[in-house]
Amino acid sequence: MSSLSLLRYSTPPWSSISNCRAGFRTFRNISSTFRLQFHHSKSAKTLLAAGGTFQQNSNSSVVKLNQSIDSFSTVAMDSQYDLAVIGGGSGGLAAAKEAAHCGAKVVLFDFVTPSSQGTKWGLGGTCVNVGCVPKKLMHYAASMGPVFHHDGAAFGWKNSISKDTNERLANAEGANSKYSRIEGSGENAFDWISLVKTVQNHVRSLNFSYRGGLRSAQVQYINATARFKGPTELVYTLNNVEKSLTAKHIILATGGRPYIPEDVPGAKELSITSDDLFSLKTPPRKTLVVGGAYIALECAGFLTEFGYDVTVAVRSILLRGFDRQCSEKVGQLMAETGTKFLYSVTPKSLTQQSNGRILVEFNGASSDEFDTVLYATGRSADTIKLNLSAAGVSTTSSGKIHTINEQTEVPHIYALGDILDGKPELTPVAIKAGELLVRRLFGNETALMNYKEIPTTIFTPFEYGCCGLSEEEAIALYSAENIETFLSEFVSLEIAAAHREKIESQREHEFDTALSPNCLSKLICLKNENMRVVGFHYVGRNAGEVTQGMALALRLKATKEDFDHCVGIHPTDAESFMGLAVTKSSGESWVAAGGCG
Ligand code: FAD
Repeated sequence: MSSLSLLRYSTPPWSSISNCRAGFRTFRNISSTFRLQFHHSKSAKTLLAAGGTFQQNSNSSVVKLNQSIDSFSTVAMDSQYDLAVIGGGSGGLAAAKEAAHCGAKVVLFDFVTPSSQGTKWGLGGTCVNVGCVPKKLMHYAASMGPVFHHDGAAFGWKNSISKDTNERLANAEGANSKYSRIEGSGENAFDWISLVKTVQNHVRSLNFSYRGGLRSAQVQYINATARFKGPTELVYTLNNVEKSLTAKHIILATGGRPYIPEDVPGAKELSITSDDLFSLKTPPRKTLVVGGAYIALECAGFLTEFGYDVTVAVRSILLRGFDRQCSEKVGQLMAETGTKFLYSVTPKSLTQQSNGRILVEFNGASSDEFDTVLYATGRSADTIKLNLSAAGVSTTSSGKIHTINEQTEVPHIYALGDILDGKPELTPVAIKAGELLVRRLFGNETALMNYKEIPTTIFTPFEYGCCGLSEEEAIALYSAENIETFLSEFVSLEIAAAHREKIESQREHEFDTALSPNCLSKLICLKNENMRVVGFHYVGRNAGEVTQGMALALRLKATKEDFDHCVGIHPTDAESFMGLAVTKSSGESWVAAGGCG
């Protein structure tokens, strides 16, 4: 065995494992010391460099390490690799494992610099720890809110708290929230701490499985920050010792971190970001969310459904870059279900109050006190620590990297994922680009990443899924005369039956209590290409699930006629796309009266 791995971990979930990297036989935790057994005594002896004692018997060698180690890692003892990957997130992990699968000798670096509030996490990058995964679990938890609070009682569930009960509890307790049961009263009380525990336990299990995945793929994992010393040389510090290695190919996949404006006094010190929210140790309670992009709306959406008093401060418009009509629909539905919006407003300063709350003074509005201020005003590429100038790789002013087919201006250095300039910042994009790249490098394949027609979904309480062009983009690209837009707005069967209502402040009249149609189905078609569908947009429940299959249809160049000839599944919201009849240009109403067929 030419390289050697030292296994390290914090809270061992088991006492021994098998199938370790070649050469390792057993792995046991002995309180804060660690024992590794393996056949190759030569390799074992090299471990002594990391500290510990060495014993040998006829069958195996045992190394006992006398140090407390806070994370599992494999320490590379070799210094020359076919591929070095910097960043163990979605793109980096996928590229490293696939390259090893193709036979390359691979090393991967991952290190998490704590957030401004001191939050840190394990292997797996943004998606697993502070992005898609915890966000989706909180979204799922939030989706139970209206069921507990409203629909359940209508559908016969006795433990659901009806609106009347809710109001009685709210009056009795004077709760500063939509649902009085938050933090404590009633059988179905919402408990933030339990939610965080469930989410974080799951995240930790994923961290662990990623570490196992690297090990079984025989990728050397180094839990350290890597930086360039020269075009092929990387340096890193481990156990206070600076080390270096070289690699023929280097992939940068260092992702991004939330950005908090420097010019708002108190913002950096007093606010949190999505890096902190999913592991927050105390309930966020009355929350200000700053930002109008998807992370801001998703967080505001689930916090509102948990019953917290949530305000979103939006500088300009919601969901810039997405279809305007659908973005406004998302905002309308969020407002009708309790999220407050302040438009053309940004915080001017944040000040800690003696009552523990944060006083926020706004530009263009007055001021208010909040328990939590969550900044979601964008993310910056995490490239500064890489010392890219030593390798000759340049960045844009925002730290992003320009590539052609993931290759930078230095031919053996590549970049993937969120650090790419002008590419969608999504986990499946980073994974797919990474896998295709290393198959080109080590697997004799030629397929390139296609960054077009990438589907995505915003997980607001009523989700918004889309693929292809927005109406605005389609018009800009093909002209208004060449575009036909088909639409339908309607209420889901189940929501209509439960008579879900707007919150009080959104009712204009006594009779105006029903929630607006919760679904919007929209197809954008190109007239001079036989009505090919170039834009798919859907606001409604489970939009993520609905949109995935439709993305395949768009990729296969489906036309409006293909959609019309496809038989729907009844009764679903998605069937609305099979036979959309009303065009925007007709001037007819596209709001359906309801009912079957
Ligand atoms: P990352 O996953 O960010 O990984 C980069 C890793 O590199 C990190 O672990 C970092 O600590 C490490 N690193 C940085 N510099 C160094 C260095 N010098 N040395 C060693 N290690 C280093 N995407 C979706 O597709 N769907 C969603 O629903 C979704 N929801 C999201 C919700 C939130 C709140 C956020 C923040 C993001 C969400 N995303 C979602 C985006 C998704 O998480 C990212 O697109 C994806 O994680 C990018 O992967 P990456 O490989 O580029 O980088």
